Amino acid sequence: MNIILFGPPGAGKGTQARYLVKKLNGFQISTGDILRDEIKKDTEIGKKIVNNMNDGKFVSDEIVNDLIRDIINDPQKKNRLIFDGYPRSLSQAKNLDSLLENSNQEIGLIFLLNVSKDTIIRRIKKRKIEEKRSDDNLETIIKRYDTYIKTTKPVLDFYSKNSNFHEIDGALEIDQITNKINNFINV
Ligand code: AMP
Repeated sequence: MNIILFGPPGAGKGTQARYLVKKLNGFQISTGDILRDEIKKDTEIGKKIVNNMNDGKFVSDEIVNDLIRDIINDPQKKNRLIFDGYPRSLSQAKNLDSLLENSNQEIGLIFLLNVSKDTIIRRIKKRKIEEKRSDDNLETIIKRYDTYIKTTKPVLDFYSKNSNFHEIDGALEIDQITNKINNFINV
């Protein structure tokens, strides 16, 4: 089953994605991790995106769509994809729809982990210390949150009409969120 996890930065998408990977023998597509890796390896793409990432701005749809195409088309990963941080714009959602359709796949479940701005700021401050992520400073966090609200909202409006869309309170403890997700998977 392919699953999409939505939520603002710091909502816990990555944690739940890693859980789902184990549970479903899945494959995580974290565009944030993929992009950070490009920067770390100092690739051509990395050089292009480093300023946007550090400013809390989105990377262009073109670059992100290019980076995920081969993963979605990989037959070994078919119907085992756990999306964490993608799609983040309407154009990415449409790109995903067509890539899945062309490879004879569909989205099984879509979860929105909803969390307030205050909770996110507190969590990301903690994560900055633990994971030493270069894009995690307070100013960036607020920009990333605002970018999320502005750009991701149309995607949510697009998906929330689907019967497989479920909103979960992301302020709950990690295990409680996992349990709620499990309730939908185990039916
Ligand atoms: P994340 O780790 O998912 O919070 O993403 C960190 C940063 O990577 C974001 O603030 C964006 O700059 C960039 N990013 C991650 N995923 C995407 C995406 N799907 N589209 C555009 N930019 C992205």
